[in-house]
Amino acid sequence: MSVYQDIGLKKVINCCGRVTLLGVSTLSDEVARAAVAGGQSYVVIEDLINRAGEIISQYTGGEDSCVASCASAAICLTVAGLISKGKKSIMDRLPNSEGIPNEIVLQKGHSIEFGGTMATMLRIGGGVSVEVGTVNEVVPEDVEGAINEKTVALLYVKSHHCVQKGMLTIETMRDIAHRHQLPLIIDAAAEEDFRKYIAMGADLVVYSGAKALEATTSGFVTGKKEYIAYAKKQYHGIGRPMKIGKEGIMGLLKALDRYENKDREKEVKENLEKVRYLCDEINRIPGLKAVQIQDEAGRAIYRARVTVDTAVSDKKIEDINRELRAGDPIIYCRAEFLNLGELDLDPRPLCEGDKELIVSRLKEIMKG
Ligand SMILES: *Cc1c(COP(=O)(O)O)cnc(C)c1O
Repeated sequence: MSVYQDIGLKKVINCCGRVTLLGVSTLSDEVARAAVAGGQSYVVIEDLINRAGEIISQYTGGEDSCVASCASAAICLTVAGLISKGKKSIMDRLPNSEGIPNEIVLQKGHSIEFGGTMATMLRIGGGVSVEVGTVNEVVPEDVEGAINEKTVALLYVKSHHCVQKGMLTIETMRDIAHRHQLPLIIDAAAEEDFRKYIAMGADLVVYSGAKALEATTSGFVTGKKEYIAYAKKQYHGIGRPMKIGKEGIMGLLKALDRYENKDREKEVKENLEKVRYLCDEINRIPGLKAVQIQDEAGRAIYRARVTVDTAVSDKKIEDINRELRAGDPIIYCRAEFLNLGELDLDPRPLCEGDKELIVSRLKEIMKG
């Protein structure tokens, strides 16, 4: 029994991924202990924020970093920082940024929704989202043409949510930004490499704490010292309702330390074995087919893709998904390609015994 069942909620099998919908990830004992210890004494918060920034930067290669309550908050702080440049008179009127440079240029295929839209996150920080190109093609001229005296930054979103074809590369966006003396922000919220984008020359990179790091609910932006100082200042402005607690910060720092020493290859191998188990077992269920696929954004994440064998069954994949979610335990798969008849199973968040339960529930559903 988990604490959630203690308060009357159903058990959940998460084969969806590190998603906010289900609580993103679970804490290791080590991270949980660090968070508890952090919560049990006092500290000067400003000093903690500054020290956390220094420590995070050791893992990213950034000049400095600003800790945040989540990646979305880090985007808001970053944008508000670039617009106000630490000026109190501007900070005090954000998100109203009328009459001052406030435009953030991004490619149309990057204007995503991740539980809220990117345009909303930019607007909270006073930013105006300027989408360029079309959803399937962006050329450098589209970006160049959108840059004017109101532009404060270029934004590149590295995510499986983005359109993957026809978009400009990070290098191209970086070069355009720097040619115009503008910073390039990269939203790498769900990415697994914490050094890569700084090394590529991005000025500011945003990460989520609870996704790849499996930390307490948290996030951060890492990069150029001057811009990070602007972002930190926002805790006296629009950042006030986004504050991260001391326990959350200590959990994040411990998770960064663990991540650096983790055997990631072993983890990928174990996940691949789970995917193979799921595929083998599901292929034995009359009416279902399963194959192994890799993450659209190219991360070392493998999933099992389930489809209905229409020669054998007239069951709709939508109904199978609905029944999985309606049962007890609730089984949550990735439904983003349901419209194409595909249901994806992510092995990473599965707990002991979960994969067997998924197979037996699918057997029941296909019989019923
Ligand atoms: C998850 C995600 C976010 C939001 O991260 P939070 O930490 O949940 O706020 C932003 N951008 C992308 C690309 C994401 O995948």
